[in-house]
Amino acid sequence: MISDKMYELGSVRSSIRELFEYGKEAAKRVGKENVYDFSLGNPVTPPPSELTEAMIDILKNDEPCSVHGYTSAQGDFETRRAISENLNKRYCAKISPDRIYMTCGAAASLSITFRALVSSDKDEIIAVAPFFPEYKVFVEGAGAKFRVVPPDTEKFGINVKELEKQLTENTVALIINSPNNPSGAIVSEENLVLVSELLKRKSKEFGHTIYIISDEPYREITYGKETPYIPEIYKDTVICYSYSKSLSLPGERIGYIAIPDGVSEIDRLYAAICGAGRSLGYVCAPSFMQKVVAKCTDITSDISLYKKNRDILYSSLTEFGYECVMPEGAFYLFVKAPGGDSRAFSTLAKENNLLIVPGDDFGCPGYLRVSYCVSYDMILRSLPTFKKLVSEQGKE
Ligand code: PLP
Repeated sequence: MISDKMYELGSVRSSIRELFEYGKEAAKRVGKENVYDFSLGNPVTPPPSELTEAMIDILKNDEPCSVHGYTSAQGDFETRRAISENLNKRYCAKISPDRIYMTCGAAASLSITFRALVSSDKDEIIAVAPFFPEYKVFVEGAGAKFRVVPPDTEKFGINVKELEKQLTENTVALIINSPNNPSGAIVSEENLVLVSELLKRKSKEFGHTIYIISDEPYREITYGKETPYIPEIYKDTVICYSYSKSLSLPGERIGYIAIPDGVSEIDRLYAAICGAGRSLGYVCAPSFMQKVVAKCTDITSDISLYKKNRDILYSSLTEFGYECVMPEGAFYLFVKAPGGDSRAFSTLAKENNLLIVPGDDFGCPGYLRVSYCVSYDMILRSLPTFKKLVSEQGKE
């Protein structure tokens, strides 16, 4: 028997992937330069040169069996030590190398953490809209119920009153993604303090810990404002990190889970994370990439290129009449759909070879995500189409 659930997941693409695949086909028909693909968060900014140098150095000088062989399931100790030293230095944190678990990117970090925390089909994990659509797939895959806090479209922070309504005695965790995909918002420290007070109160009332799962692939991609370090505000925080975006290597699949000292039931939780990684069949994260990131803990791709893209897109689109909140981080602009119907506007844009994703899958209908980790040149070429579409909408 074939699983209906898995069949469905495998045969229906997400709207992001749908647009991305469409873009590849359209490029064959009309030429690559005439397709404006803002669908995927696939950085065109190259990885930093230090990373390429580290790769070459490792390939030339390290023992092949250590480069290409299995590491221990939780990851190579030297890599975990480099990451823990770096985090402890940057955030005055206390994270032991023995509480870091190397993963194949944030998707794996999240699905492993969800599995480690879910013990019954009554368990619930909460996300705040707008959210990365795969959360629902991973949460339900772990056997829990997915609950959503409706969006705060003014600031794209966390509406604490709405969060309280979603908390039940079955809540095991709240996912926070800051800087956020798709809104680009950074959740402020004040907002996090209120969330923390609420979670502490509710954990006490329900008699069990409600964890925060901090999904941080965009941690370093900010434009002036720093991303608050959540464990300092709420101790029961599990960090899910990925190098996909900060080092522009999403296809290499490397990230980690970190559990800071002081997290409730830390030994049991770490063991459950190791168990969840094992049950999902991850074996270990790619050895070569573990060695590479150990040498690159303090560097990122050139964030100024994203800032330049953000600035031209934000100023041009708002001048044309689009409405959006200025992103503080990540590389997405979340734009109010002209006319109000995001799916209809995305379809209209697609007919003009402009690929922007409707916010519906992110739990925020009426908005469109424009992923700007693309070439500056493509943005310039796309602007007349953005302008034409919004003015056509205005005439209806
Ligand atoms: N979380 C968020 C918010 C993302 O935007 C993404 C990817 O775009 C992921 C997780 C998954 O990242 P990775 O490619 O490292 O698995």
